[in-house]
Amino acid sequence: MKRSHNASLKHLNSFSVEARAGQILELECAQDLQTFTSEHVFDPGEDLILGGGSNVLFAGDVSGSVILNRVRGRRIVNDSDNEVLIEACGGENWHQLVLWSLEQGLSGIENLSLIPGLAGAAPIQNIGAYGVELADVLESVQAIELGTGQIHHFNHHDCQFGYRDSRFKSTDAGRFLITRIRLRLKRKFTAKLQYAGINDELKAMDVITATASLVSEAVSRIRQRKLPDPAITGNAGSFFKNPVIDRASAKLLSAKFDGLPHYATQDGNVKLSAAWMIDHCGWKGYRQGDAGVSAQHALVLVNYGSASGQHILELANAISDSVTCRFGVELQAEPRIIK
Ligand SMILES: Cc1cc2nc3c(=O)[nH]c(=O)nc-3n(C[C@H](O)[C@H](O)[C@H](O)COP(=O)(O)OP(=O)(O)OC[C@H]3O[C@@H](n4cnc5c(N)ncnc54)[C@H](O)[C@@H]3O)c2cc1C
Repeated sequence: MKRSHNASLKHLNSFSVEARAGQILELECAQDLQTFTSEHVFDPGEDLILGGGSNVLFAGDVSGSVILNRVRGRRIVNDSDNEVLIEACGGENWHQLVLWSLEQGLSGIENLSLIPGLAGAAPIQNIGAYGVELADVLESVQAIELGTGQIHHFNHHDCQFGYRDSRFKSTDAGRFLITRIRLRLKRKFTAKLQYAGINDELKAMDVITATASLVSEAVSRIRQRKLPDPAITGNAGSFFKNPVIDRASAKLLSAKFDGLPHYATQDGNVKLSAAWMIDHCGWKGYRQGDAGVSAQHALVLVNYGSASGQHILELANAISDSVTCRFGVELQAEPRIIK
């Protein structure tokens, strides 16, 4: 197990903001996981599990330990006619896992191509993009309970998935270290092209018959065009969730604000476009010092260089307040904010 004391977290978060950790523990193999759970008493108030750091904002330091789960490994568990069960360790890079699944002739996660981060973090907020979310394919999660060292297995239902949400982000936040995920993928490809942009991109690529690999390529091309690359401009993707409100309130809002995009959810509520509301409050392309709102995408807050996490958090709060003031809707941050 690698250990470093009083270490910088700047290279470990996609916002590239400076923050420090009392110590960083890097777990590289199953033995490290065992040693860690038997020797370390995890304090959720002071310690932090960190994957790729692409969904966190450090607005303060971590006084205790930052634990990096870098245990890698992936395999096919079960291969039947059409359905194939794969397993990935928590330290696997998510996008590399998508590419590997395509190489195996499998489909199901191609729409989730190029989402940064590690497989162990994917269930935390039920990653989603372009009409697909992890919950659509997730079979089970293996996790270590940090307080006891006990290993737990959660099936799909146990994970309590919601829109950018799961028990690991809500009721059980900070309680488990996710060590493995199992996904149920398909040999027979069914394109999920309800997100109009994918069809347009496939057309632009001169594709006549879509395959899972071509959809992955189309999604990657759209993402590279639309989202700032964290390697160049620090960001954590969408900073705010799209707010979900009841139908009656949504009807009133739509009547008041012409053109406000809204989508019915499966549970009878309505999801509003946070990007549209932020844009209509005049924030898109805004910059104050090195903290700003992407000019390409109103949902993406960016660090142009030397912004602090606190600076970005203040900007996020100002955006959220202005949206509440104008639309009467509260925005919720998507990344985990460390204060
Ligand atoms: C450019 C860009 C685009 C993005 N696009 C999308 C998108 O389309 N859809 C989407 O859903 N997200 C998107 N994200 C957000 C982010 O990539 C995902 O949420 C990703 O799953 C985070 O993975 P990570 O390993 O970086 O997690 P981290 O940021 O390291 O951690 C996120 C949270 O998960 C916890 N955590 C991490 N690993 C574990 C583990 N093994 N066990 C227990 N807890 C853990 C952390 O404590 C933290 O609370 C985007 C981010 C960026 C920068």
